[in-house]
Amino acid sequence: MLKPVPSSVTTPDRLRELAALRQRITLWRSEGQRIGFVPTMGALHAGHLALVKHARSLSDKVVVSIFVNPLQFAPHEDFDRYPRREDADSALLAEAGADLVWLPTSELMYPKGFATKIELTGPAEGLETDFRPQFFGGVATVVTKLFNQVTPDIAVFGEKDYQQLKVVQTFTRDLDMPLEVIGLPTIRESDGLALSSRNAYLSAEERDTAAKLHAELHAIAETVQAGGDADASIERAKIRLEAAGFGPIDYIALRDADSLAPPSADSRALRLLAAAWLGKTRLIDNIAV
Ligand code: AMP
Repeated sequence: MLKPVPSSVTTPDRLRELAALRQRITLWRSEGQRIGFVPTMGALHAGHLALVKHARSLSDKVVVSIFVNPLQFAPHEDFDRYPRREDADSALLAEAGADLVWLPTSELMYPKGFATKIELTGPAEGLETDFRPQFFGGVATVVTKLFNQVTPDIAVFGEKDYQQLKVVQTFTRDLDMPLEVIGLPTIRESDGLALSSRNAYLSAEERDTAAKLHAELHAIAETVQAGGDADASIERAKIRLEAAGFGPIDYIALRDADSLAPPSADSRALRLLAAAWLGKTRLIDNIAV
């Protein structure tokens, strides 16, 4: 149940026209306001709201976009059934302190004749890309457009989508985009399951099983930290997850935390990343090692 919005909280304006957005941003800039931005696909939960609150703490005005980006879904994926709840999302954003909700339409984002693709290498290679080849191209295109529309000073992304965070940090740096991209730790349920809009797809039984993914990542990390064999530990975790009802397991991989390449002697930090299906739901998670 949603908590009622306290009367002191003003509901943020919802804008759908680019000219109206630009006018608002120009006004804020003329007042010397620092603009923070949180891009989302809606169906907001406490993970998204933590990003909004962090953006709030670092800037004077916070814009949150809600756009279910067709470009980052393959034809067989869940674009049509992805949850959409604009009114509930706006109420939550009012409480979290957002100033404006940016709701571009698909026609505005991808008008007839749209013909541009961003090509990515480095952290965009492997992991998610092996299973969702279209994904980061779609993310990079929509995020670049959103950055050009909102022109934020900072943008806040979740470590929940760790590879996405690294991809966005890399292309904004490489293309000299004038903003800082900040990552925030994953917000979890009490049993460790990472909050996700897609958790709504899980049955009650699957929901009980889902937290095992995070538990197994911790078991692998402990083995690695104790000097044990990472590959053997990952294989054992996969067997336990499959026995618990997961499958297929797309990947569980230990990577350099910055480049996302396989660990090397130069790696300063490591990250363990995973994606696995539970019934019809694809779960992803990652932790620092
Ligand atoms: P999405 O709406 O799933 O595209 O996510 C929008 C932003 O929220 C992305 O930067 C995600 O990484 C972030 N996010 C999603 N789930 C969480 C979570 N559990 N904790 C922190 N950030 C999250």
